[in-house]
Amino acid sequence: MEHVAIGEVDNSVQPAAVMRQLTESLGCSDVAINYYELAPGDSFAFAYHEHEVQEEIFVVLEGTATWELADEDGDGRQTVEVGPGEAVRFPPGERQRGWNWSGRTNDTEPDDSEGRDGDDTRSSDGQRVRALAVGAPLAYGDQPKSADCPECGPDAPVTVGRPDDDPAAVVTTCDDCGTEVGRWVRGENGENERIV
Ligand SMILES: [Zn+2]
Repeated sequence: MEHVAIGEVDNSVQPAAVMRQLTESLGCSDVAINYYELAPGDSFAFAYHEHEVQEEIFVVLEGTATWELADEDGDGRQTVEVGPGEAVRFPPGERQRGWNWSGRTNDTEPDDSEGRDGDDTRSSDGQRVRALAVGAPLAYGDQPKSADCPECGPDAPVTVGRPDDDPAAVVTTCDDCGTEVGRWVRGENGENERIV
């Protein structure tokens, strides 16, 4: 048996204020499990993405999360709200990105350059989202990602990595033009922040 207190697992630098990777601390061999807390404007993921082999289930414990996924025609996106006490499952190959859009003051979907930090899309009265994500098998397989690039436009292919100038940060970089599309760091309060 393995037993952990979630609050004692290290916070990982992620697009969520808090993300505690329970997989390793529980010694999981076949399933991934992560605990998330999303401040208003935060995302579960660095980019719109899919997993080649891993199916993923999110259980929302508190707040309401919003997922972007392909619409039925496959040429646009739809959104699905998942409230407290609800769960959602994404099969392998389904592209998605989950957000905490609570407190947003307009209906336009944010692009990656302003979705989190733009004053027009954030509000101090937004509610935090707490959720668990469970994925199996442990390996993702290929995980193609895309985000909105200020140079190339929407849905540009991106890669997630560590920048040379700050190995503690995580960045997403446009594969086509090299522009840094997003950057996340550990803030002074111990939670993660998006600064690009
Ligand atoms: Zn680009």
